[in-house]
Amino acid sequence: MLRWIAVFSVTTILFRRGNGGVLQSPILHYEQPSCVGRDCYPELKSRLYQGDILLPEGVDPKNALKIPALLWPDGLVPYSFAKGFKKADKNKILKAMRVIEMETCISFMPKTMLDRTWISIEQKKEAGCYSVIGYRPLPHEGPLTFNLRTPECYESGTIQHELLHVLGLLHEQARPDRDEHVDILWENIDKAYHSDFAKADESFVTTYGVAYDYDSVMHYPKWAFSKNDKDTIRAKNDTERELGQRIGATEGDFEKIRLMYNCKVTNEALLTGNFPLNFVN
Ligand SMILES: [Zn+2]
Repeated sequence: MLRWIAVFSVTTILFRRGNGGVLQSPILHYEQPSCVGRDCYPELKSRLYQGDILLPEGVDPKNALKIPALLWPDGLVPYSFAKGFKKADKNKILKAMRVIEMETCISFMPKTMLDRTWISIEQKKEAGCYSVIGYRPLPHEGPLTFNLRTPECYESGTIQHELLHVLGLLHEQARPDRDEHVDILWENIDKAYHSDFAKADESFVTTYGVAYDYDSVMHYPKWAFSKNDKDTIRAKNDTERELGQRIGATEGDFEKIRLMYNCKVTNEALLTGNFPLNFVN
């Protein structure tokens, strides 16, 4: 019975994806970083909410993590590429999608005529790396913007970071409990950027009980938005500790997505038949 469910589910996923999104296995989850230093965080330059989150009118971003209506129905995320995308850039994005899919129950799929809401992946030169946060329920219809300017937005960790915003993750240091784990050094932050360090209201968001993750691909680096080259965020117990990275999503990042979307089993388990012991059909 279990095997039948698995085969059916995988078949359904493959069928819905078409040519652009066939699952590939095995998959390399982490790559050697090709980007080192401050240039690895291009999303900090987009000057949107918390740097790189695009807020549509009438949506309070602080609701993003807790309200089911802002989650993609059935964890299915249709996407389209703008015309003129370079194949190499497209492949990097598809690869980042596959990484998230394997560790969760999320599926990114090429948009079909039946999809009324989808992410439109663009490369506008005048914009940086940014994305919407979460899904927009009806009456919204149409594309949701997702922009990755070339070449700076194409490190695997940066792409995964933006895709995790699409799924509903905010920045790690915006968690309601962040003050227990990090100090914000306001004196080193330009006033114009203070709002980027806003803490999310715990009546609207949840951590899903996942431990604070200093290495999260969603965490700002320790020097983010510094006006004087001094630290702006420091780990409480280790002030020298680096924060965040843009190599790839961590187990904590994936765990939040699995809990957010109530994943019973990951796509990787479906493909390999390696189900967790607590899997119940
Ligand atoms: Zn971000």
